[in-house]
Amino acid sequence: MGIVIQGLSHIYMDGTPFAKTALSGINMVIDKGSFAGLIGPTGSGKSTLIQHIAGLLKPTKGTVRIEETVVGPETKKMGPLRNRVGLVFQYPEHQLFEESVAKDIAYGPHNQGLNEEEVHRRVFQAMEWVGLDPELSSRSPFQLSGGQMRRAAIAGVLAMQPEVLILDEPTAGLDPAGQRELLDTVYQLHREQGMTVILVSHSMEEIARYADILFVIKDGRLMLTGSPGEVFAEGERLREWGLEIPVVARLVDELNQRLTSPIPREIFTVNAL
Ligand code: ADP
Repeated sequence: MGIVIQGLSHIYMDGTPFAKTALSGINMVIDKGSFAGLIGPTGSGKSTLIQHIAGLLKPTKGTVRIEETVVGPETKKMGPLRNRVGLVFQYPEHQLFEESVAKDIAYGPHNQGLNEEEVHRRVFQAMEWVGLDPELSSRSPFQLSGGQMRRAAIAGVLAMQPEVLILDEPTAGLDPAGQRELLDTVYQLHREQGMTVILVSHSMEEIARYADILFVIKDGRLMLTGSPGEVFAEGERLREWGLEIPVVARLVDELNQRLTSPIPREIFTVNAL
């Protein structure tokens, strides 16, 4: 199964003069083990949507289901959904606070009530997953480089072993090499562990490189969904929505002038990136 969202709407400050509809009637399915890309202009509702999937916001209407766990407007306990999902916020390193990297990564597993031995195992496993040298475990997180800090913050989420990992603009502020390294690491983890990943990014190229299914939202509505090839074939519409897809869009436009059938992803990926 995976993640099934049905008729999801969210209104902030519902019933007040400040009511703001952020999501309207979203239906989507993200298969277990897939790598989904979520794209949309600023203010389109991406953050609101991922907070629903992570069990941090309750739907005004509709439901969010992950496997047998369902959340709707009447749900009292959000914990079961939250426990399935790891959400890495933007600039997650701002939330590092412990005196050592190991303690920071251990924070989540500790709160899950795991015993010391298991917490220790999880910490070092997560450090290995994100490519952090175990020797850094006793350092202060604030002595790490920017890229290492971000990896430590992501390790803290991974150490809770979520079924679904959501990353909100995870490469913001990193240099191009750091961006690629970080997402390559996440991608490898996704392949090895079969973890479902949802990547929120404004970078079409970033999304095209890793995701197998894309969701484009605008004004709180799901506008397009499909493989990267299918979605980018709508280059004209994406541009109208203010979504710039420089290299990829041009390539798809060119190809579309020559081809009538959909573009195989392989051609698209190799040529574009
Ligand atoms: P994105 O992540 O795509 O930038 P958001 O989900 O943050 O979009 O926002 C969607 C809409 O909801 C925007 O119009 C935004 O101003 C509004 N919004 C977001 N958070 C709140 C909030 N806490 N209270 C009121 N309105 C909000």
